[in-house]
Amino acid sequence: QAKREGRDQVAELTRAQMIELEDRVTLGSHLRDAVKRGELELYYQPQHRATDLALTGFEALLRWNSPRLGFLLPGRFIPIAEALGLMPEIGNWVLNTACQQMRMWLDQGHSNFIVAINVSAQQLKRSGLAERVKEALQRHAVPACMLEIEMTESSVMEDVTRARHTLASLKNLGTRLSLDDFGTGYSSLSYLRLFPLDKLKIDQSFVRHLPGESRDAAIARTIVMLAHQLDMEVAAEGVETEAQAMLLTEIGCDGLQGHYLSEALPFRAVESYFRARRIVGQSGVGSA
Ligand code: C2E
Ligand code: MG
Ligand code: MG
Ligand code: MG
Repeated sequence: QAKREGRDQVAELTRAQMIELEDRVTLGSHLRDAVKRGELELYYQPQHRATDLALTGFEALLRWNSPRLGFLLPGRFIPIAEALGLMPEIGNWVLNTACQQMRMWLDQGHSNFIVAINVSAQQLKRSGLAERVKEALQRHAVPACMLEIEMTESSVMEDVTRARHTLASLKNLGTRLSLDDFGTGYSSLSYLRLFPLDKLKIDQSFVRHLPGESRDAAIARTIVMLAHQLDMEVAAEGVETEAQAMLLTEIGCDGLQGHYLSEALPFRAVESYFRARRIVGQSGVGSA
């Protein structure tokens, strides 16, 4: 029987793999046309200053409304887009859409907000990212200092020489640079000082078990100190409870992002969020 069970397990595994493979193939084939068909959408997750919870800006997060596959989160399709080499095109769409929507908010009279976009390893590795960013900003008349570019440690580490060059060009343009999911990738601390970063984002895996987990608190505290010592801001992502927000504020974390403050919002919901929340620099307007 043991042999038989073993054989069944093999069949089971193969079936699961088949389904996964089919899933990837189906996803991939639909994904190729998603940009052209206008199926991609940006959601915006608010970012707040820790000390007074003033709204400082938003992170743009990609969503895919596939007529056949439903509403998909990036975890489901970005790895496939990467594998198919579609991320430069998708990333370019993200960049231009974010700038276009920032322009609409500016035209509505909102100011002093920052929008962060995520860039993939492929985008960083290709030459011309800074050119594309410059074009998008110009096309929509958005000041460079209002755009923040988020990248992960691992994407920067894939090609350090190239990344240094690209980041220097982006910094020259005047955009802000932020290191995402900090603490989860492999990177040597000595590289940190080579990059002109403005911000470190403490990964949500270090936030999740706060305030109870004292070792995670120690890590968070250390990242805050490291960032400040290197003249960088530091923000925490995945903040879900008041207790987490309080602890992070107490240890000096500058920015907070997470469900405790707000989930990511569709574009049409951002206007009223702006109105309801106090924006940095517009003192006395509304309340946090
Ligand atoms: P990320 O950049 O680290 O974004 C934060 C993720 O955490 C988002 O997931 C967000 O919805 C989620 N999140 C925010 N607050 C909370 C919370 O309180 N609790 C929990 N459990 N989760 C929270 P999302 O939108 O599914 O995006 C996942 C990842 O996909 C992003 O991680 C980013 O690496 C990538 N991504 C998203 N949009 C883009 C894009 O336009 N381009 C590229 N290259 N990558 C993107
Ligand atoms: Mg991010
Ligand atoms: Mg992150
Ligand atoms: Mg993350």
